[in-house]
Amino acid sequence: MSHQGDGLISVVVPLYNEAASLPGLHKHLTEVLSSLGNPYEIIYIEDGSTDESNAIISAWTATDSHVRMIALSRNFGKEAGLAAGIAQSKGDAVIMMDSDGQHPVEMIPEFIKAWKDGAQVVIGISADKKGEGAFKKVGSKLFYKLFNRFSDQPLVPGSTDFRLIDAEVRAAFLKLEEKDRITRGLIDWLGFKRSYITYVTRERQHGTATYSRRKLISLATNSFVTLTSTPIFLFGYLGVFISSLSFLLGTAIIIEQLILEDPLSWNFTGTAMLGVLIIFLVGIVLMSQGILSLYISHIHTQSKNRPLYVINHAKSAGVISHES
Ligand code: UDP
Ligand code: MG
Repeated sequence: MSHQGDGLISVVVPLYNEAASLPGLHKHLTEVLSSLGNPYEIIYIEDGSTDESNAIISAWTATDSHVRMIALSRNFGKEAGLAAGIAQSKGDAVIMMDSDGQHPVEMIPEFIKAWKDGAQVVIGISADKKGEGAFKKVGSKLFYKLFNRFSDQPLVPGSTDFRLIDAEVRAAFLKLEEKDRITRGLIDWLGFKRSYITYVTRERQHGTATYSRRKLISLATNSFVTLTSTPIFLFGYLGVFISSLSFLLGTAIIIEQLILEDPLSWNFTGTAMLGVLIIFLVGIVLMSQGILSLYISHIHTQSKNRPLYVINHAKSAGVISHES
């Protein structure tokens, strides 16, 4: 099924209010895809746009059998749009890309080539984000640093949603049912044979990124929360640290000052002793939070309900039943 050189290629494009960039994108996509020689489909997921996007794509669907449109009933966000598009795609390879010109269409043949060479997941790495503010640059550096520190499933810095997955990966992807989803995180989690392609991100061609700072921060937080549970343990560790130190100090004070009557003349005031006691108790509270987080992290893992494992393929001379 997969890795046929002449397989169907699906391109999945989620979009929200992109009327200005759509015609250029579509023209370019059609040029590049028709030159490949593979059959192809372009699936536009119209994510509740309020501009002309829907009408523009509708017109194409009437005349071009390569084009499909899935119009969502309201704006659900890019991650939901991607999920809808991937579910509807029929291709042996599925390419997902942004509609604003930031994911270069001319790189598609390289994605296809990597797939034909045997990769099941091809990941676009953005080399240089021109025209991006300091907030995004520093923010994304910090995000990768922290994330890779906390997660046992590393992210390659600069890896984007500009990706290709094969039919096998799509089938596995569609079995993941969690609600707060970060598509690239899920694809990373799935594994499979990967290859990376570096490209230069261009400035957005029209309009402004609809991902505001607030949305970006929530995307980063979501990635953390859905992909790692380490941060919630940190406070527990902090509690252990604080309590142990203040316990030692408290014991020293009791022995030196209260029992031996201050031979080293530390002269701790009552207030200072009270301070040590309070810090000790704060540490205990933090530790009990840490214990709670152990339980929460189990609930968290369980509630994501991910499969225990994902099979790529099974091979045997005898009988192995291979589902789907
Ligand atoms: N997008 C979407 N729904 C949204 C927001 C964005 O489908 O609610 C699409 C948007 O049209 C674009 C892609 O997701 O094709 C990336 O969005 P954007 O350029 O705003 O964000 P960036 O990731 O470039 O900051
Ligand atoms: Mg963009």
